[in-house]
Formats: sequence, structure tokens, C-alpha cells
Amino acid sequence: MADRRTRLTRATQAGLAWDQQHHAVVPPIYLSTTYAWPKPGESPGHEYSRSSNPTRSLLADTIADLESGAGAEITASGMAALTTLVAAFVPGGALVAIPHDCYGGTWRLFSSLARKGQFEVAYVDFTDPVATAAVLQRKPALVLLESPSNPLLRITDLPTVIDAAHAVGATVAVDNTFLSPALQRPIELGADIVIHSTTKFLNGHSDVVGGAVVGATAEIVKELRWWANCLGTPGGALDSYLTLRGIRTLGVRMKAHCDNAQALAELLAQHPAVKATHYPGLSDDPGHDLARQQQDGFGGMLSFELNDLAAAKRCLAGLTCFSLAESLGGVESLICHPASMTHAAMPPEVQAAAGISDGMLRLAAGIEIIDDLLYDLRAGLDRARRS
Ligand SMILES: *Cc1c(COP(=O)(O)O)cnc(C)c1O
Repeated sequence: MADRRTRLTRATQAGLAWDQQHHAVVPPIYLSTTYAWPKPGESPGHEYSRSSNPTRSLLADTIADLESGAGAEITASGMAALTTLVAAFVPGGALVAIPHDCYGGTWRLFSSLARKGQFEVAYVDFTDPVATAAVLQRKPALVLLESPSNPLLRITDLPTVIDAAHAVGATVAVDNTFLSPALQRPIELGADIVIHSTTKFLNGHSDVVGGAVVGATAEIVKELRWWANCLGTPGGALDSYLTLRGIRTLGVRMKAHCDNAQALAELLAQHPAVKATHYPGLSDDPGHDLARQQQDGFGGMLSFELNDLAAAKRCLAGLTCFSLAESLGGVESLICHPASMTHAAMPPEVQAAAGISDGMLRLAAGIEIIDDLLYDLRAGLDRARRS
């Protein structure tokens, strides 16, 4: 009989009734590194846990299903996922195009490998059609996209840029960490590969570092998995188990993240201490219409600008509901200062070009009771206003 369940229900129920030996409702964790062969030439299926592991496979299949992919590999981190992508899909000396305002670690990985002479990298504002056309004319082998961007929450027109990149023969990967497949599915918009830091919304509890690469076709998946095994980037069984546990609540968590972020953005947008609020859920945000078209929600991330660093410090001092910390996607609310934290690897002139100012703060809205978050943030904004 056809499976009539929706994708989020399938994720909630992933691997239930999988255990044929004891009929455990929740699937067991396979820690074994190696698996016994019936006889030479007859593989047991899983052979060695770097190559494949039953617990990891269960998580990979669940994420691939959520992303409408043909398959996936689970990696030890989001950076391990990006490393696998580079090894598999960037020939030596090729051109790679990445967002000028991408995740700081992504910027560091690509710029450092380019400095070693492995390939050339172009930093592109993919929200600008002229800049996008100019880089595509140079025929990049790989185009990596992030939408929304970090920390400005700019929205890239994914179907349009993906089509244009395919027209010049590029492989297109989208880092979907900021929204999760509950809110955006890049493969359905034409992408070849989806990258995740599962550390963020997919695990959702700030207690596992992990990643995933998802391929749109069996061929792409085979290539990604071959390189993951070759490089040694796959993730561990315990981490895979915890991440699968987190994914069971992805649907309800994302709804709460979106609702809380929307309410916080509306507070920020009308507070006199705030120069600018960046959240695609605000109807006058430049990315609002595009986000409505290609996303199923506006997400849990937002950023805003105060007058200067001193104002940002006054806002931060005394917050009780927002921990000053990097990362995002956990059930608890976080706040960070991109210029000195997440994006510190970028030189000041690169930060300026990406629109990151000293007075900017980034919020990762958790799933707490919204009145508590609003009360705490409003007090912080009032402090920022007093000099
Ligand atoms: C965190 C993050 C990464 C890197 O993931 P790690 O799990 O920290 O290695 C990559 N891309 C985005 C958008 C991220 O937020």
C-alpha cells in the first residue's frame, strides 16, 4: 500500500518498528565498527562503520526523504559535509562561486584551499542578477548558495540562479542549514546537492556537532558517499542516534521558531533604538516576496542593527533569556555579535562588504514562551538607547 504519510510525519516515525529481533519501538544504536561476512565474496551489507553503519543509514535516509533527495551521507560536522562536497565536485584549478556573505567557516574553508592553489574562488552577491551573470560567464564548476544568508537574511532567488548555473554546466549545492527541510527543499527548486550542518535545526538541541550531504540523483549520492568514505568525513553512530531523536520534533520546533522570530522582529522593527531589522517575515523586508514563494515559513533567524558597538554591549549586558553564544537552531534562544564572533574569520573590509557592522546583533529565536523573550529583549533595547 502506498505510504500516505506526509514528510514530517515520516520523520517523526523514522525507524520505528525497524528492530526485528526485539521489536523495540525506538531503533537501537549500532556501535560495532565491523560486521561479520557469511563467507568471502558475500558482503553482510554493512562492512565497516566508516563506509556505512546501520544507525547512520537510518538518519541519512530520513534526511534524504525530508529533502526529496535520492540519498545522503551523514558527516561529522557541517564543515565535513562541505569538505566532502569540495573533494567530490571541484576539479583542480576550477572556479568555485560562493556567496560573499556566506557562513564564516565556509568562507575560511574555500578561501584557504584557494590560497593553497587547489582552485579559484569567486565571492558573489547572488541577490544581484548582474553580479550573478558576470560570474556564471566564467563557467564555475561548482556554485554554492545559501538562502537566507547569514547574518543579513538576504534571500536568493534559488530557482532562477540554479537554472542559470545549470545552463553554464555548473553543479549547484545549497546550504539549507538556516531553514531546514521543514521550511525549504532546494532539490525541489532544482539543486543537485543540499548541505546541512545538522548541529543546528535538524538536531535542534545544541548537543551534537554533525552534518549531511544530500544528492538529487543516485549518481550524485554515490559520488558523495565514495568521497566521504575516502576522506573519513562520516559521522558517528551515537551522534546519528541523537540527531534522529531531534528530527522527530522538527515540524513542531520549526513552527515555534518561526512564530517567536516573527514576534521578536516586529518588536525590533518598531523600537527607536533599532536602525534596521533583517527578517524576511516583515512585509517590507526586501526578501519578503521571494521567501513567500520558495519557503514554507520565514525561519527562526533574524538580525538587527544598533547605533554602534557600545549600544550593542549595553543591550547584551543584562539579557537573561538569550545566551551570548555562536550557533543557532537549538530550542534555547541565542544572541551573537557577528563581527567579533561568527564572522571574525573575515577581514574587516570583507565584513564591511558583506554588510556586517559593529552594531549588528544576530538572534536565534528559541521555542520559549514568547512573552518572556519579548520582555527581556525590550529591556535590552531600552538599555541600548540610554547612553
Ligand atoms: C554552522 C554552519 C556550518 C558549519 O557547520 P558545523 O556543524 O559547525 O561544522 C555551515 N553552514 C552554515 C550555514 C552553518 O550555520
